[in-house]
Amino acid sequence: MARYFLTTAIDYVNSRPHLGTAYEKVTADIIARYRRLSGYETHFLMGNDEHSQNVFKRAQEQGKDPLSYCDEMERVFRDVWKRLDVSYDDFIRTTDRRRHYPATQKLAQTCYDNGDIYEGSYEGWYCEGCEAFKPEKDLVDGNCPIHNTKPQWIKERNWFFRLSKYQQPLLKFYEEHPSFIEPEVRRNEILRLVEGGLEDISMSRTGQSWGIPVPFDRDSVVYVWFDALINYAAAVGYGWDDEQFKKWWPASLHVVGKDITRFHCVFWPAMLMSAGQALPAQVFGHGWVYFKGERMSKSLGNIVDPLDAADKFGPDPLRLYLAKEIPYGGDGDFTWERFEEKYNADLANNLGNLVNRVASMTERYQQGRVRATGGGSLAGVAAESVSAYRSAMDVHALHDGAAAAFRLISAANNFIAEKQPWALAKDPAKADQLNGVLADCAEAVRVAATLLLPIMPTSATEVLRRLGDEQPLADRRLDAGTAWRSSGEKQILNAGALWPRIEAEKGVVNVTDQPQTPAPEPQTPATPSTPPAAAAPATQAGPAPVETPAVITIDDFMKVQLKVAKILEAEKMPKSQRLLKLKVDAGEAEPRTILAGIAESYEPETLIGKSIVIVANLAPRKMMGLESNGMVLAASPDGGKAIVLNAEPADPGTRVR
Ligand SMILES: [Zn+2]
Repeated sequence: MARYFLTTAIDYVNSRPHLGTAYEKVTADIIARYRRLSGYETHFLMGNDEHSQNVFKRAQEQGKDPLSYCDEMERVFRDVWKRLDVSYDDFIRTTDRRRHYPATQKLAQTCYDNGDIYEGSYEGWYCEGCEAFKPEKDLVDGNCPIHNTKPQWIKERNWFFRLSKYQQPLLKFYEEHPSFIEPEVRRNEILRLVEGGLEDISMSRTGQSWGIPVPFDRDSVVYVWFDALINYAAAVGYGWDDEQFKKWWPASLHVVGKDITRFHCVFWPAMLMSAGQALPAQVFGHGWVYFKGERMSKSLGNIVDPLDAADKFGPDPLRLYLAKEIPYGGDGDFTWERFEEKYNADLANNLGNLVNRVASMTERYQQGRVRATGGGSLAGVAAESVSAYRSAMDVHALHDGAAAAFRLISAANNFIAEKQPWALAKDPAKADQLNGVLADCAEAVRVAATLLLPIMPTSATEVLRRLGDEQPLADRRLDAGTAWRSSGEKQILNAGALWPRIEAEKGVVNVTDQPQTPAPEPQTPATPSTPPAAAAPATQAGPAPVETPAVITIDDFMKVQLKVAKILEAEKMPKSQRLLKLKVDAGEAEPRTILAGIAESYEPETLIGKSIVIVANLAPRKMMGLESNGMVLAASPDGGKAIVLNAEPADPGTRVR
C-alpha cells in the first residue's frame, strides 16, 4: 500500500489557536482525509513548538513552570483541533524527551561530525518577538516590521551551521524536483533567495536553560528554529527507532505558512543533506486568511476564534468555507457576513435543499424507496465531477475539488427543476419515469457526498446515512464510492433540514406586502451623502407629512430574501383583472404558489419557463380565497404596465442581492 506522510507546522503555544492557525490544520486535514479515502496508508503529524523564549516568558508572566504551562496549552490546542474534526494520527511536542530530544541531538551531532557546524561570533539586530536576527535592510525606521519594536544589538559566540555550502546542492535539487516547492509563486521566491547567496546561520543560543542542550557544548541550547524543524523526523523515529523511521521517511508533504517556507525549503533540506538523510517530497506554502482584509493579530484585536463558528454550526460549514472560498496557496478573506452568505448558498439552499427534496419526494411518492436505473445525463455530470475533483485534490487545489463536488449538486437541483417530479407524480403512467428521476438524484447526492467526505466528514457521513449507505468511514474508498451505481434499491431517510438557513438576527424590516399597489413615488430622493436627519422638512401641502425614504443598512436589506424562481405554471384568476396565479420553482422542496398583480401586462402562457425574482420570506397571505407565498418583483411605471424582472440565466433558488 502506498504511504503518505504529511505534517503541518508546529505552533508556538504563547496564545490559543485563532482562525489563521486553524486554516492550516483544517486544510492539511482535508489532504490527509483525501489520501486515506484514496487508499493510502496515511500518517498525519501535528504538534507544538515549545522551546521558544516567548513561551518561556509567557509561562513566567503567569507564574507557571514552563513545562506545566506547555502541558496546559497542549490540552487547549488538542481540544480546538478535536472540535474542528482534525484527524491527526500523531501529535509531537518539542519537549518530548523520548522522541524529540534524541532526534535533535543526533541530527546536530551528525552535522557537527560532518564539519557543517563551527564556532563563531555574531553580532546584529535581534528581535525578541521574532526570536531572530534581523538584517539592517529589513528594518523599518530602525524597527522590526512585524513587531514594530526596536531590536537589540547583540554580540555573542555561537555555533553556526554552514548553510552557504548548500547553495549549489539546493539549486540542483530544486531543478531536479520541480514540484518540491508549491505553489509556483513560493518556488520562485525561494529560487531568487537561494540564487542570491546564502549566509551561515546560528544554530545555538548561550545563556539559556529553556531548550535542548547542544550535544557537543553543554553550555548552549539548540536554537528554537533548528530544534523545531527536526520534529518531523523525530516523530517517526529518527534517533530512536530506525525501523519506524525507514517506514515513514522521507515525508510526502510539509504544509506550512508562506512566512516560513524559507525554513522548510532552504534550512531544513540543507540540514537533512548535511545529516545524510533523504529530503521530503514536497513543501506547500499556503497563504493567509485575512479578517475583513487585515492580517489577524492580537495587537489589532481582530482575532477570529474558529470555535465561534464550530460551536454554532458544527465544524463542517467552516471547513467548507476555508477549503472552497480561498484558492489554496493564495490569500483569502473571512468575514461573518460572507461566511453566513456561503452557508446559506452552498449548504442551506443547495446541498441541504437537494437532500431534503430527494428525501421528501421519495417518501411522499414512493414510500421512501428508489430503484436505481441506467443513469441518464446526471451520471455523465457525476463522472466529469469525480475526475475534475481527483485532478484538483491530487495537486492540493482544494478549492477546485470542492467546486467540482458542488457542480454535481447544482446539476442535480437543476435536473429536478427540469424534470418536475411533482408533475410526474400526478400521472400513474409516469411512475417509472418518476422513479428514474428520484433514483438518479439520490445517486448524484451519494457521489457528491462521497467527494465531500474529506472536507465535511461528519455531515457527508450523515448524508450518506440518509441514503442508506452506512459503511464505516475507514472502509470507504474513493473509487468504489464514486462509481455510479445503476442497479439496486435505496431506502431513503427523510430526517429534516441538515442546515437550517441563517437568518439575520436583529431588527425587523418592513416590506410592503401589497404588490397590487404601486409604491408611492419618493418626494425627496435619499442620497448616501444625505443622512436622514438632514432631510428636507415635511411639507405642509398634504394631509400627512411626506416621508423621506428611510436609509437602511446592508443588514436591513439582507433580511429581505430575494431569490430567483422559475415559472412552472401561470393562469388567470377567475374574477380578477389584475391577478395571475403562478406556480414557481424557487429551488425548494416543493414549488410555491404566488399571486401576482401582473395580469394586465402578460398573457399567462408567455410567462412559463421565465426566470424571475421573488421575495421569498414574505409572510403568506390570502387573496381571493387563495394563499400567496411570496411576491414577484416587477418594475411598475406610473400608469404603465408592470415588467417582471428577468433573472435569466440564473438557477432557481439563487439568492439575489
Ligand atoms: Zn520581530
